[in-house]
Order: sequence, then structure tokens, then C-alpha cells
Amino acid sequence: MTVEIKKIGVFTSGGDSPGMNAAIRSVVRTCAYMKIDCMGIYRGYQGMIEGDFKPMDARSVNNIINKGGTILKSARSLEFQTKEGRKKAYDQLQSAGIDGLVVIGGDGSFTGALIFHKEYNVPIIGIPGTIDNDIFGTTYTLGFDTALNTVVEVIDKIRDTASSHNRLFFVEVMGRDVGHIALNAGVGAGAEEILIPEENLGLERLLESLKRSKASGKSSSIVVVAEGDKTGKNVFELKEYVEEHLPIYDCRVSVLGHMQRGGSPSCFDRVLASRMGVKAVEALLEGKSSLMVGIQDNKITLTPISKAIKGHTKIDKELMRVSDIMTV
Ligand code: ATP
Repeated sequence: MTVEIKKIGVFTSGGDSPGMNAAIRSVVRTCAYMKIDCMGIYRGYQGMIEGDFKPMDARSVNNIINKGGTILKSARSLEFQTKEGRKKAYDQLQSAGIDGLVVIGGDGSFTGALIFHKEYNVPIIGIPGTIDNDIFGTTYTLGFDTALNTVVEVIDKIRDTASSHNRLFFVEVMGRDVGHIALNAGVGAGAEEILIPEENLGLERLLESLKRSKASGKSSSIVVVAEGDKTGKNVFELKEYVEEHLPIYDCRVSVLGHMQRGGSPSCFDRVLASRMGVKAVEALLEGKSSLMVGIQDNKITLTPISKAIKGHTKIDKELMRVSDIMTV
């Protein structure tokens, strides 16, 4: 059953990522262009339950394309995971006249969206906003490119001090389940070794590589470690292990943490967000639902949310080979 859409609600949910504001702007302006109403829903599903809504017109999103975070705020809502919570959310949407939703978020937010659609048949389209790039059905998620640029810039700075003191730095980056940030930023920043969750090359190989690196005359070394790497040691334990087995190295640790999620979005993320927002509204107006907007082969695509949340992204093997060759 399709319903005629007159008012779209847009919200951000789960962890924030750069580019979310650009996506909100795009959804709001596309609604204005199509002459339908748009309502901003604050604090994700929790705000939906509480009816924390505000009408948005084209001018309400002036000067946000360049801002990190999300003007609509984000939240994690336990209440939405209950039937009673979702009923409250539905009642709030009904009384506000919202008949279609655009959710900007990650896996969890999409899972909630799917359940909600099944229960209440509210059409809903997802835009993948997360720096981890771990959502199936899109080559890039919103925020990934910005996060890479942030990480590379910081590693460049760390390398300045590493080479001044002949030090080895272990730099921990985000990525509990996937190593996309570590691999891409590692290659971009010229890291000597990159440790990711998808691959366990073992500690011996790390020591060998570092020995080779020293012997070849390198004055500094950077090892990029994804949070979820498979060595079985956290970044501090790795440092201790290497210091113990390779005393020639003076080691330091830098954990980048939440700085990776902040900052002004890159041009790539702003353009991607603009394209995705338009597609999300168009899809709703075409009577579609439960789909996620993505980008594949530089084309904007739609993938069933059910597939997006079940599928797994794959690490780029070619890039892993490039990384190996670069550290000769
Ligand atoms: P990130 O990738 O940054 O973690 P996310 O969208 O995966 O983003 P979650 O905290 O997992 O973030 O989910 C966001 C919200 O989605 C939750 O707080 C909850 O309100 C809703 N949600 C998640 N899983 C479910 C579920 N099984 N049923 C209903 N709602 C859910």
C-alpha cells in the first residue's frame, strides 16, 4: 500500500558523523522544491517518542552544510526498542501529520526503522551516516571521507615528532569490526604497518617488518591500529610488546578517539549528502519504502534496508597489496 506523502520527518540517530547536517539540508530543501512540508525530529527516536518536532523550511538550514555534528541532535533510545515506545512514536507522527520518514544513521537506526515500518507501515528511507564505512549497499557512508582526512592530517603531525626523535608511534583509530579507516588512512599517511580486524598477520610479522624498516634506514615509523585489530593486544600492550622484543625502538601511543567524528565535512561528504538527500525524498514521493540510499560506481542507488543491515562490507584487497608494496 502506498500513501500520498504530504509531510516528511527527518532525523539523525545513533553516532553522529560529518555530513549529517548537509544531508538534513538536502532533505529539507528537496521538500521545499517539491512543495511538501518537512519536519525536523530532534534527538532521533527518543525525540520522535516525545514529539520533539520543529517545522523546517528552506531557510531554516542556511549555513549548516559546512558544520560537523547534527543540528537535530542524536540520541540512543532504549524506549524505541519496546513496542510501547514505538506506539508512542507512531501516535506522535500521526498527530503531527508526518507520513514519511528519512532516517540518517547507522545499522541500529536502520534496524529500528525496519521494525517500525513493519508495525505501522510508515514509509521510511535511510541515509547511511557513520564514519566507519561499514554499511553494505554503499561504497561510501557519510562522514567516512572526512574522518579519513582528519586521521591523515593528525598522523602527518605525529610523524613530524616521530621523525624528530626517531620514534615509533602506534596510532589507534576507530574501527571495532572493520578496518576501512585504518587501511585507507594508513595508506594515505604512509604508515609502515596497518593492523585491521579483517586480517591477523601475527605479532611475529609485525616485529619482522619493524626490524626491516629500521635496517633500511627509516628514521620514524607509524603503525596504524584499528580498535578491533586481531593481534589480541590493545594498543598499549602492543607498544609494550614491541619495546620488549625490539629495544631499538622508542615507542609512543596516540589514541585518536572522538576527534575522528568531528569537524567540518569534506567536499566529498557534502556533495554525497546533497545527492543522497534528494534521492531519499524522491524515493518517498515515488511510494518507495524500507530502502537505503547509497553510492555505487558513482551512481546513487537504493538497497533494501534488510540487505544493508545483514550484509558485510569487504576490505579492499587491492589496497592491502598497495600498502604492502609501499612499505618495502
Ligand atoms: P552507529 O553506527 O554510530 O552506532 P547506529 O544507528 O548503529 O549508529 P545504534 O545506537 O545502534 O546506532 O542505534 C540507534 C538507535 O536505533 C537506538 O538507540 C534505538 O533507538 C534504535 N534501534 C536500534 N536497534 C533497534 C531495534 N532492534 N529495535 C528498535 N530500535 C532499535
